[in-house]
Amino acid sequence: MSEPYRAGRHFLQIPGPTNVPDRILRAMDRPTIDHRGPAFQKLARSVLDGLKRIFRTSGPVIVYPSSGTGAWEAALVNTLSPGDRVLMVETGHFATLWKEMAGRLGLEVVFLEGDWRSPVDPARVEAVLAEDRARRIAAVCIVHNETSTGVRSDVAAVRRAIDRARHPALFMVDTISSLASMDYRHGEWGVDVTVGGSQKGLMLPPGLGFNAISEKALAAHRTARLPRSYWDWSAMLEANAKGFFPYTPATNLLYGLAEAIAMLEEEGLERVFARHDRLAAATRAGVGAWGLELVARDPASYSSTLTGVFVPEGIDADRVRATILERFDVSLGAGLGKLARRAFRIGHLGDLNEAWLLGSLAAIEMGLELSGVRLSGSGLRAAERVLLESP
Ligand SMILES: *Cc1c(COP(=O)(O)O)cnc(C)c1O
Repeated sequence: MSEPYRAGRHFLQIPGPTNVPDRILRAMDRPTIDHRGPAFQKLARSVLDGLKRIFRTSGPVIVYPSSGTGAWEAALVNTLSPGDRVLMVETGHFATLWKEMAGRLGLEVVFLEGDWRSPVDPARVEAVLAEDRARRIAAVCIVHNETSTGVRSDVAAVRRAIDRARHPALFMVDTISSLASMDYRHGEWGVDVTVGGSQKGLMLPPGLGFNAISEKALAAHRTARLPRSYWDWSAMLEANAKGFFPYTPATNLLYGLAEAIAMLEEEGLERVFARHDRLAAATRAGVGAWGLELVARDPASYSSTLTGVFVPEGIDADRVRATILERFDVSLGAGLGKLARRAFRIGHLGDLNEAWLLGSLAAIEMGLELSGVRLSGSGLRAAERVLLESP
């Protein structure tokens, strides 16, 4: 039984996958070509080049037909050996999933506990690395933008902490929900492996995973002994150098990726980041006016791509989301892991403008009221004020 038609656009306000713009849909709506032919070679060269500008690196960016989780695995298995120690930080659900994966792969994880409301503390990272006199920690892995909470960590500050400890560990960063929406600089920030995905800031459907890699990561790759096959950088780099892939690539997603890069560069990355900052500030103003509490504690670490919001005691956040979906056709992100049912997440990243955001906030405001949440004021008006005052 198919559902009856619902007029108008569905608002996909989860923090990824995000709304896929029409231009990208049209760019992908093409016959799949021979991935060993000259037309493909041109396409591959252009996206592999364009990705360097998006990740802000002069080194290679590897593209897998995978989800972001695959790119996490690729980062670890290409650079580390069984029993290696890795330092990870519990910023939330995604950091926890990456840590669990590292354990399953046979790595020994030092996990700095966190409250799921705060960013990575560079001083704690520095202290653990300074204590590690035998230099047994092979990698520090953090999540730039913790998608379960809406908290951004300061990647450059963590780099400085590693340097102050004079520690040789590799530095790996998950930027899946911040890339192409918030400032990110693989090269300048001294990141060794950056993990990305297609379905968030890049506005594509799910299906591509990325590893941007440094010289140091490549050197580690040559001696790393965790088993790897599908994820092997060497085979990829060798084929990529000729404009090809070692196995069938996600050709139509690459068409979409070329279009996404073009769109981001037409708008200008700086303007893309500023747009996300504004939409995020408007959203937070709305949440404040409703009298609800943000999951993120510290204004310095607010995410610009999503906002995590606690519902009042006695209210089930999943019921609120269900009401908003049923009544207004707007999807919001669920509270994940420790935040299940206590919080919901508003995604405000990707192909999004002011009117679209305000429509989403209006639906949320009405949905909260319908769910019996007593609001202290109009979040919609507060959000409008922010947008009016920052043209
Ligand atoms: C979405 C996301 C992931 C998981 O990506 P999948 O494509 O679902 O495998 C990992 N880390 C972060 C920070 C994310 O936002």
